[in-house]
Amino acid sequence: MTGRLPHIQEALRRHGLDALAVVPGSNLRYLAGLTLHAGLRLTMALTPGEGQPALVVPGLEHARVAATAGAAFRYYPWSDDEGPGNALARAVRDTGLGRGSVVGVEHTIMRVFELRALEQALPGAQFVDATPLLAELRMVKDAAELDAIRIAVQVIEATLRQTVTQVRAGMRERDVADLWERAIRAAGCLPAFETTVASGPNSANPHHTSGDRELQDGDMVVFDGGTVYRGYASDITRTFAVGHTSDEMRRVYDLVLAANAAGREAAAQPGATGESIDAAARQVIERGGYGSFFIHRTGHGIGLDVHEPPFIVAGSRAPLPIGATFTVEPGIYLRGIGGVRIEDDVVITVDGAESLTTFPREIQYIS
Ligand code: ZN
Ligand code: ZN
Repeated sequence: MTGRLPHIQEALRRHGLDALAVVPGSNLRYLAGLTLHAGLRLTMALTPGEGQPALVVPGLEHARVAATAGAAFRYYPWSDDEGPGNALARAVRDTGLGRGSVVGVEHTIMRVFELRALEQALPGAQFVDATPLLAELRMVKDAAELDAIRIAVQVIEATLRQTVTQVRAGMRERDVADLWERAIRAAGCLPAFETTVASGPNSANPHHTSGDRELQDGDMVVFDGGTVYRGYASDITRTFAVGHTSDEMRRVYDLVLAANAAGREAAAQPGATGESIDAAARQVIERGGYGSFFIHRTGHGIGLDVHEPPFIVAGSRAPLPIGATFTVEPGIYLRGIGGVRIEDDVVITVDGAESLTTFPREIQYIS
């Protein structure tokens, strides 16, 4: 993971930043391979545009952190009785920062006490949002990251297949979700988020929490799950029918299927953007007369976070780089009746795009 440092420092210089300050979370994992809980003891990596980065760390975490992040960092441990102030001040000085320095911080992740500590250690410095820089770096997955996502996809697809063969009408949503999650854990992985099984009218709610409803004949059942392998997530949705479907839900299913294919095809075009993929998928559903029932963006990036850039949505106009991984997940939701969503994980390749998910997309029936 620390092999990334030269790359990150080059990006800092290109963005005109003197340093990047990162706190526990997925950016710290990206930067240093560290999976740390965002606790109340100050932990902060300071990476200058040139030279050795500093890691301010609670004394009780020092050994574990140093064993993972290695010699790439210089460590500044602090104890509970002295507090983090001195350690941070020394880290700031040793990384060559001072009055007038421009420091990138994570606007949506860093907490107030962390920013205040930095401001105190660096009076007269300027703090700017490093979110775009971090997004640009993390969007392009290297071979090891792609391998991890591929394995996370294999696990989620194998466990979905295994689960669906055991599902019958009369089972409760929560028991089905449980079956799936147990299969994920048995495969040695963790669910990437709360596994969703949404049946009948519940399938019309894209954010349904699996509950007590029993699957019954005529239901559409949305299965949405993901898993994490070595920190990297997969995310898949397939919609099944119990017994039979109404004519309308069958039409809706075929529209979503066509929209999913159109989105994946648009991703394979040279210069594809989040906006072009969203438009391609959305157009199919609009032309089919269900535009107002496709109530969310077409997709989101996947990686260390289940939702990260790039977002597949109108206004997302930057061409997607080779190595970008994201979902294509159009859906139609008819309130009180049912919904359909088909979600794939896609990567931009040298000559187009590849769907990492290969689970059959055609409608399948649960008996
Ligand atoms: Zn999903
Ligand atoms: Zn998703």
